[in-house]
Amino acid sequence: MPSYDPNNIFAKILRGELPCHKVYEDDKALAFLDIMPRAPGHTLVLPKAAARNLIDCPPDDLAHVAKVAQRIAQAAMGALGADGVTVQQFNESAGGQVVFHLHVHVIPRKTGMPMKP
Ligand code: 5GP
Repeated sequence: MPSYDPNNIFAKILRGELPCHKVYEDDKALAFLDIMPRAPGHTLVLPKAAARNLIDCPPDDLAHVAKVAQRIAQAAMGALGADGVTVQQFNESAGGQVVFHLHVHVIPRKTGMPMKP
């Protein structure tokens, strides 16, 4: 697997070099809205650690990302009034990954509303 590229788009967002619509932040993770949402509230959760994807992410950072994704899914089901939540995560080009900093998609869903492709 190629090594982590510190110039990927999400690394630039994490460093504050590019803007994002922030949903949540703590010392180990950042969550922001996807620029091309597949449903309203589509959020990406990232570790601040330099991890390319699930394969190379330190387990503690991965566990923290999962906790943040859970909190966002809970908020979606609560305040946002979602009926369900789709959680997706892609690894390497063959696995559908486009941006090579680990991220988890948290996509609020409404009954009868298909997700955009
Ligand atoms: P993936 O790597 O999981 O296949 O897809 C990357 C995701 O990042 C896509 O859903 C895409 O819309 C989103 N994305 C790509 N560039 C940006 C960006 O500059 N800002 C934000 N907020 N999202 C982005």
